[in-house]
Amino acid sequence: MTNTSLNQNLIDFIQASPTPFHATAMLRQLLEKAGYTALDEADHWQLQAGGRYLVTRNDSSLIAFCLEDNDIADSGLRMVGAHTDSPCLHVKPEPDLVNQGYYQLGVELYGGVLLYPWFDRDLSIAGRISYRNRQQRLGNALIDFNEPVAVIPSLAIHLDRDSALTPTFNAQTHLPPLLMQVGDQPEVSFRELLRELARAQHPELNIEAVLDFELSLYDHQPGSLVGLQQDFITSARLDNLLSCYIGARALIDSKGKTNRLLVCSDHEEVGSTSSCGADGTFLKSVLERLCTGPQELARCINRSWLISADNAHGIHPNYADRHDANHGPLLNQGPVIKINANQRYASNSETAGLFRLLCEQAGVPVQSFVVRSDMACGSTIGPITASAIGVRTLDIGVPTFGMHSIRETAGARDTDYLHRALLAFLAYENQALHRPEE
Ligand SMILES: [Zn+2]
Repeated sequence: MTNTSLNQNLIDFIQASPTPFHATAMLRQLLEKAGYTALDEADHWQLQAGGRYLVTRNDSSLIAFCLEDNDIADSGLRMVGAHTDSPCLHVKPEPDLVNQGYYQLGVELYGGVLLYPWFDRDLSIAGRISYRNRQQRLGNALIDFNEPVAVIPSLAIHLDRDSALTPTFNAQTHLPPLLMQVGDQPEVSFRELLRELARAQHPELNIEAVLDFELSLYDHQPGSLVGLQQDFITSARLDNLLSCYIGARALIDSKGKTNRLLVCSDHEEVGSTSSCGADGTFLKSVLERLCTGPQELARCINRSWLISADNAHGIHPNYADRHDANHGPLLNQGPVIKINANQRYASNSETAGLFRLLCEQAGVPVQSFVVRSDMACGSTIGPITASAIGVRTLDIGVPTFGMHSIRETAGARDTDYLHRALLAFLAYENQALHRPEE
């Protein structure tokens, strides 16, 4: 069944989350509304049994957890992981360009951007600025132009007949978006524009100067339910804000005696190696603080399970040959278990087996994906977290089309399937493995 309100809430969440900073702020808001208390990594934590907490790092990664009244070393944690970032165009530090009287911005690629859908879109710009205030202090703030302020027009087919069907792009010269015509007064400063916007959006901060920024372009058009029967969700950043949102909803809605945790990390699309990325210390540091010592931590990790939720490739009817014929996940047929013999995905038969068992009991269909043997496989935060923490891990995700496009397509019924699957997983109480003598 399609859960229309869940899908509409997801679309609204994604639209309010144009960058990992905004996604983290939105997740925080959602969790705080549900009774989660924000912690600061700099403080001494005094955690209570029955408590619900969240903590962020770099304003762009978030961990939320709920502790039940039990010994965490005995019961471990049920963890769901996802990532807050998506491939996009980042504004360069000195972005001002004027060509033919047009004011443009220099941009840098972030992650593996599928480029052609970025052309002819109504683009806006958002992200984090670091500023100096009137008292000479450093501060950070989120800003969002929140209007279509830029466009990258494509080249007319008449001017490029040779490559019309297979355009190639030079990332340095073909991508700078147009922001306005300046004629013969080209003295525009992007930092000045930012300062004006930041002062208007945060008058209380007394911003004097924008010292630096991390900003990206995004599609101003909101996501939508599409199709004669509304079978599809189309939106930017479904990879992987869909999993962040459904993961947060599942954590909030979850019940039971288990200790449960959600980790949403930045920088997955560029390899996860950063202070707040999955290859950093964030999760490990939080787990250390949940346990009283190394013995307890080791026992807790041994009794924990992690599901890394990140979208999978649905088999595209026009490109079916890109999939192994026996492993072509369909939209709206449930979450996909991602398997790779070379450990590009962390799933193994035990973690996949548990997921199949739980989904069977919850009435959720499950599919599986393995890349064609003659193609290279992508990866996720699953193997990175599994190797950093040593936790049993499973890689799953809902099937999608157009991964890393500015507008991706997912199945409208898969959000509910994922939610139900994660709810079942979060409530799973460890049982000893079956042995032959039983
Ligand atoms: Zn992803």
